[in-house]
Amino acid sequence: MESAATPLEQIRQRIAQAAKIAGRRSADVALVAISKTHPAEAIRPLIAQGQRIFGENRVQEAAAKWAALREECPDIALHLVGQLQSNKADEAVRLFDSIQSLDRASLVTALARAMDRTGRQVECFVQVNIGAEPQKGGCAIAELPQLLDAARGAGIPLAGLMCVPPLDIEPAPFFALLDKLAADHGMAGRSMGMSNDFETAIMLGATHVRIGSALFGQRAG
Ligand SMILES: *Cc1c(COP(=O)(O)O)cnc(C)c1O
Repeated sequence: MESAATPLEQIRQRIAQAAKIAGRRSADVALVAISKTHPAEAIRPLIAQGQRIFGENRVQEAAAKWAALREECPDIALHLVGQLQSNKADEAVRLFDSIQSLDRASLVTALARAMDRTGRQVECFVQVNIGAEPQKGGCAIAELPQLLDAARGAGIPLAGLMCVPPLDIEPAPFFALLDKLAADHGMAGRSMGMSNDFETAIMLGATHVRIGSALFGQRAG
């Protein structure tokens, strides 16, 4: 009997299928495995199956967990997908290979300084508050042009735009809007789509899908 597909294999298949339907290449959709709250023992099996891009939302937690994992597997790319305080910019630039939560001018300044100090150039996604939700991170759509100008002016390497659409309503219009904003601003990357909606995001142009619970199971917190 064949053993059942692992969660990672299932997600890879679903990404490939969605890309195919969209007339895209699955190689153009990067899977970012969101390992926040999950211990190293839960992460190792994914690394063993070839997964190399992971996402965390807390600088401290990521630093503690990934020191050992990175020694075991040096070619990991770590993405920050959570709000970043300016006073942690240095640590974030040392630790992460991509920062997906650049959302304000003060953080542009802090990250540019951190990249200067550390000599590391870390690509950033500008996070857009795509549903204009007051409690959510991300820059307002109206402020996006200015923020992009500031980031470009400060020499920050920009990978694209990122969003987390509002919960519990159809995400497609928000994904379509992020895709349009990225196109308008000449940006290649669109980080959008999570466990519950990544196929829709791929149809609408996602280049990075951020998947946690569908790979690792539900988070405790
Ligand atoms: C936790 C998180 C995810 C993953 O969410 P799932 O629904 O578990 O796939 C993706 N993006 C961000 C920004 C997150 O904080």
